[in-house]
Amino acid sequence: MRPIHVSFQVIQVNDNYLKLKAGYLFPEIARRVKAFSDSSPGVELIRLGIGDVTEPLPKACRDAMKAAIDEMGTESGFHGYGPEQGYSWLRESIAKSDYQTRGCEISADEIFVSDGSKCDSSNILDILGPGNRIAVTDPVYPVYVDSNVMAGRTGEANTLGRYNGLSYLPISADNQFVAEIPSEPVDLIYLCFPNNPTGAVVTKEELARWIDFAKDNEALILFDAAYEAFIQDDSLPHSIYEVEGAKDCAIEFRSFSKNAGFTGTRCAFTVIPKNIHGKAQNGDSVCLWNLWNRRQSTKFNGVSYMVQRGAQAVYTSEGRKQVKALVDFYMNNAALIRTSLLEAGFEVHGGEHAPYVWVNVPEGMDSWGFFDFLLEKANVVGTPGSGFGASGEGYFRLSAFNSRTNVETAMNRIASIRWSK
Ligand SMILES: *Cc1c(COP(=O)(O)O)cnc(C)c1O
Repeated sequence: MRPIHVSFQVIQVNDNYLKLKAGYLFPEIARRVKAFSDSSPGVELIRLGIGDVTEPLPKACRDAMKAAIDEMGTESGFHGYGPEQGYSWLRESIAKSDYQTRGCEISADEIFVSDGSKCDSSNILDILGPGNRIAVTDPVYPVYVDSNVMAGRTGEANTLGRYNGLSYLPISADNQFVAEIPSEPVDLIYLCFPNNPTGAVVTKEELARWIDFAKDNEALILFDAAYEAFIQDDSLPHSIYEVEGAKDCAIEFRSFSKNAGFTGTRCAFTVIPKNIHGKAQNGDSVCLWNLWNRRQSTKFNGVSYMVQRGAQAVYTSEGRKQVKALVDFYMNNAALIRTSLLEAGFEVHGGEHAPYVWVNVPEGMDSWGFFDFLLEKANVVGTPGSGFGASGEGYFRLSAFNSRTNVETAMNRIASIRWSK
């Protein structure tokens, strides 16, 4: 018998992953929290750092999902693979309630139901070429940057954590956290309103300027509206399609995660208007809807029947009331955080149309310094602004996703450390 030879042939990895700086923020928070907890046993920490909802699923959604499960247990009501684009009854409800009633001409077949906006906002790069110049805000939701790094659309990161090949648009109190229109031409622009992490919103007039820029430069806007339900002012746009011209140059991402508490249930959707075109290498004009439809049909098999029934219940009258109650609950938390911090002498932003409050850290501290200070003095965990990008330095994010008691206790603790200083 011949001896068995071990092969030393080595598979290649995607080297782009080795460029990633992320995996730094939340592990570093966890490390500091653990070090503190180990040295101060018995201290009860309040976590206002997480971007995850805390309230239970609305009853209308649960009832719809339960009924769907029972249906699946019958011969006549069983469903196997559903359409990769989502069931038409859900797409119709979305198109009608989220778009047509707001005056946006979006049709049901322009809606692609998915298991998450995080996934969609990364997967969209599958249908976009490698030569695009990409703009992101700084600070930013890290997924937009990291998905471009993984797809090989950037170079290496510099010491500030900024990647070669990306255009960073700084946002700060100076520009109301709405980036300036780029001075250089770019092809893809990621915008998120209401914003995570800053809680900022955009007006229709400001969005119109972005749409003009996109049209002039034949650019594509990737608009993340995951927090639209938190908008309190009727004059602010819930969708980019409320602004003239967006149907020619914008893709929109929406999610049931934050409004209906579906972060663990998983359902979202992406809108790709049929008239958006890109260019092939041979110069041909190509419809993005066709490419995304092809991509989803090949790489995705739809969201479970039960979950889509649950999502559809968001649009019933009971569902609407329950979702509004959830949003109101978190927005009252946000108001409490805002007022308490203002009274304690902090400069605060956001929290009026978004579940995030963006706080200026006290003078003489940086974002991580304030993180340690709050952890030690108030036993409150937040998120350092610098973790979302170099221009987030000097800021701190507090999330309104928590119980009322926890928010109240956290604010009382912060107020008392400020006064005794
Ligand atoms: C929470 C969040 C989403 C939603 O992601 P899902 O994958 O749908 O849960 C999208 N964008 C931003 C900026 C978010 O914070």
